[in-house]
Amino acid sequence: MEKPEVVILLGGPASGKGTQAKVLAKRIGYTYFGTGDLMRAEVEKGSDLGNTMADLMNRGELVPDKLTIPIVINKLKELSGTNIVLDGFPRNLDQAEILQDVFPSEKFLVLNIDVSADELLKRMSSRRICEKCGNIITAKNDETVCEKCGGNLIQREDDKPEVLAKRIQSYEDQTKPIIAYYREKGLVRDIDGQPPIPDVTEEINKVL
Ligand code: AMP
Repeated sequence: MEKPEVVILLGGPASGKGTQAKVLAKRIGYTYFGTGDLMRAEVEKGSDLGNTMADLMNRGELVPDKLTIPIVINKLKELSGTNIVLDGFPRNLDQAEILQDVFPSEKFLVLNIDVSADELLKRMSSRRICEKCGNIITAKNDETVCEKCGGNLIQREDDKPEVLAKRIQSYEDQTKPIIAYYREKGLVRDIDGQPPIPDVTEEINKVL
């Protein structure tokens, strides 16, 4: 396969797309760019914009384009001309068009990490993140301490049960149509995201 310059990971919340995007970028030497991380960094700053974003994210909603695009576009422009793995962008059709404008002649590959809604719910409700080192685990027995660094394991605000259904709904309504958009262009490779992380990584390795 001709090497793509832009690899997009698509998948529902807790589909493993973030983990896989980071592993893939490292392995193939591409720059990783995740908009969820970018937004969480803005939230950490405690700016007005960050507070507005936190509110939406904590409710399981997407951040509207009028807030998202200004913080994402400069970074994308900076990255044009380099090979990148995108995690969390685009998340709707307008964002897909914007991406096309910034990377008009680059070859795209879309990895669609496919996981059933039931499994997504199960994973999100047991996902814990280390406050200190960012390690993400699937809690089996309500673990509270990170085995890597001893930090506190916490549940992300937007992984709390009341928000989960909403996040899946946002994905179904706004992000899923992008799969059809890219499929029509012949750019999508479907990856079974149901098995454990290393198996999914291996399946991705076979594609590129
Ligand atoms: P993620 O870490 O990719 O699951 O993103 C966490 C949250 O950040 C999402 O549920 C959205 O609220 C917000 N977010 C991340 N990327 C985008 C985007 N491209 N457009 C709108 N909202 C986004």
